[in-house]
Amino acid sequence: MGVVVQKYGGSSVADADGVKRVAQRIVEAKKAGNSVVVVVSAMGDTTDELIDLAEQVSPLPPGREMDMLLTAGERISMALLAMAVGNLGHEARSFTGSQAGVITDSAHGKAKIIDVTPSRIQAALDEGAIAIVAGFQGVSESSKDITTLGRGGSDTTAVALAAALAADVCEIYTDVDGVFTADPRIVASARKRDQISYEEMLEMAACGAKILHLRCVEYARRYGMPIHVRSSFSHKTGTWITDETPEDDTMEQAIIAGVAHDRSEAKITVVGVPDKVGEAARIFEALAEAQINLDMIVQNVSAAATNLTDISFTLPRADGQTAMTALTRIKDEVGFAALQYDDQVGKVSLIGAGMRSHPGITAKFFSCLAAAGVNIGMISTSEIRISVVVEESQVDDAVTATHSAFDLDSDEVEAVVYGGTGR
Ligand code: ADP
Ligand code: ASP
Ligand code: MG
Repeated sequence: MGVVVQKYGGSSVADADGVKRVAQRIVEAKKAGNSVVVVVSAMGDTTDELIDLAEQVSPLPPGREMDMLLTAGERISMALLAMAVGNLGHEARSFTGSQAGVITDSAHGKAKIIDVTPSRIQAALDEGAIAIVAGFQGVSESSKDITTLGRGGSDTTAVALAAALAADVCEIYTDVDGVFTADPRIVASARKRDQISYEEMLEMAACGAKILHLRCVEYARRYGMPIHVRSSFSHKTGTWITDETPEDDTMEQAIIAGVAHDRSEAKITVVGVPDKVGEAARIFEALAEAQINLDMIVQNVSAAATNLTDISFTLPRADGQTAMTALTRIKDEVGFAALQYDDQVGKVSLIGAGMRSHPGITAKFFSCLAAAGVNIGMISTSEIRISVVVEESQVDDAVTATHSAFDLDSDEVEAVVYGGTGR
């Protein structure tokens, strides 16, 4: 009997009817003869609502308590789902991340999974039960405190469990039919991909395509776990994330895999940094000590008259406050003039493995942005990606223009968004 891991996102279990609909779907998989493990997210926008609530009682809530609070969201949905499955005549047992053996480091809010010991899940399966696991959470190996894996982390729980249980497939059920060439909430003519490689999916996820959590794709690639992203609202085949090339699909040989966007970053500029050896190192050491992951970094040429330079970088908006505090602390020591904080920025990225062998992609990307009246603030590239930082208000225009310029628009059915608020 094969093991199937299914993950249902928040929009799929947004209310009691959603929970009952998902329970039906789980029972179908069980009746088809599989051992079924389900990973579930918090209902609807519960996580956002809990974050809002925390901010109302404390401006900078401690990570430990924040994680304790947020994991409650997934505990609600796992128990309700187990009840709904039970009501359909099948035994289901719910488990917290800790009970499911998801062991992490102790970085609250962005913990990394270091081990998965799913003995209780295996025992439940051996006894013929369906195991329902709370996504996005684990327990710290060292402190034994409850941790969370970062926003969207239930995807990673699912792939990690699938790998540990040697599952045949990890199915990610969501509110769209699969991975599209752009977010269907912005581009209605986006096309569904039948297949996408781990490499391209990694770049899409890293660039903000929140259809999959970045670490889930990293994990899947490391363990060769195929992921099937599909809708819980339809029975259509979704998108397969694997390195196997499909037999006959010209689309898959396309130069461009898709356009991704990200509104979760902010930009900090350190103004008037003395242009001498070691200054940049001190700035970035301070940020590293504060556990902040940076994305793009740009240092301008210093003005000859002053010998001062500006350094700009982007980082997760959620870390903006912490970064500003860490930098303010070293202001006098480094001797820079000022700090500027801008959270009205967005990032738009063009991704495709074909870029390696096709010149002119950058020129075409930048000229289509120019034609759309979008000003480029910062640029970064990898072998298979070009990203630009633009004003947040221009993100939609930039995505739409790029999608058309690279002939990605579909002339068939429009992409369907079945649920969710897009929050
Ligand atoms: P879930 O609650 O199921 O985890 P998410 O909201 O995290 O769902 O992810 C699904 C959403 O990802 C879709 O509703 C869509 O708006 C967004 N998305 C962004 N980029 C893409 C893309 N390239 N293809 C499909 N969906 C995308
Ligand atoms: N509930 C968490 C979030 O909203 C985890 C997830 O949905 O994957 O980020
Ligand atoms: Mg998600």
